[in-house]
Amino acid sequence: MNRVTIYPGTFDPITLGHVDVVERGLKLFDHVILAVASNPGKLPMFDLETRLAMVRETFAQHSNVTITGFNGLLVDLAHQYHATSILRGLRAASDFEYEFQMATMNRRLDADIETAFVMAREDYTFVSSRFIREISSMGGDVSTLVPSPVLKHLQKAFNQS
Ligand code: ADP
Repeated sequence: MNRVTIYPGTFDPITLGHVDVVERGLKLFDHVILAVASNPGKLPMFDLETRLAMVRETFAQHSNVTITGFNGLLVDLAHQYHATSILRGLRAASDFEYEFQMATMNRRLDADIETAFVMAREDYTFVSSRFIREISSMGGDVSTLVPSPVLKHLQKAFNQS
């Protein structure tokens, strides 16, 4: 049986914490659909095309990870890819409330789609896209926290060489 899960997020930009969630997901599922939300409400720093490019470069060698952009309902996208679950990561108690609301809303929209949570790796619990953007904008070194394809996009965005 081919078990497909869908991992949605803004990925602004993708971090090694996100990569760890995908790797954990692949222990539970056969295939991960990584869905990059256009999410204009969050005013992302990177446009959708750039966020997709960074994710595609990161998982170029993974035949069991499919990348897509989306701006509609997640449950509709799940049906399109025959995914029976949604994958999300939890770092700390502070993530819980938002994740709980989203999982409950998605269950209301489609009771057949389960949300599965994996716990962040201990050394990535503090890693968030927001901190990556902030530290990088001030010239800090984030090379141990993001996949290497992200570094060049951060340098370009902040005019660093
Ligand atoms: P969203 O805007 O949907 O929250 P994000 O890209 O910020 O998108 O996060 C996508 C998912 O990845 C969320 O479930 C988030 O909790 C999880 N996540 C983000 N960073 C980490 C990390 N360092 N370790 C584990 N999970 C993470």
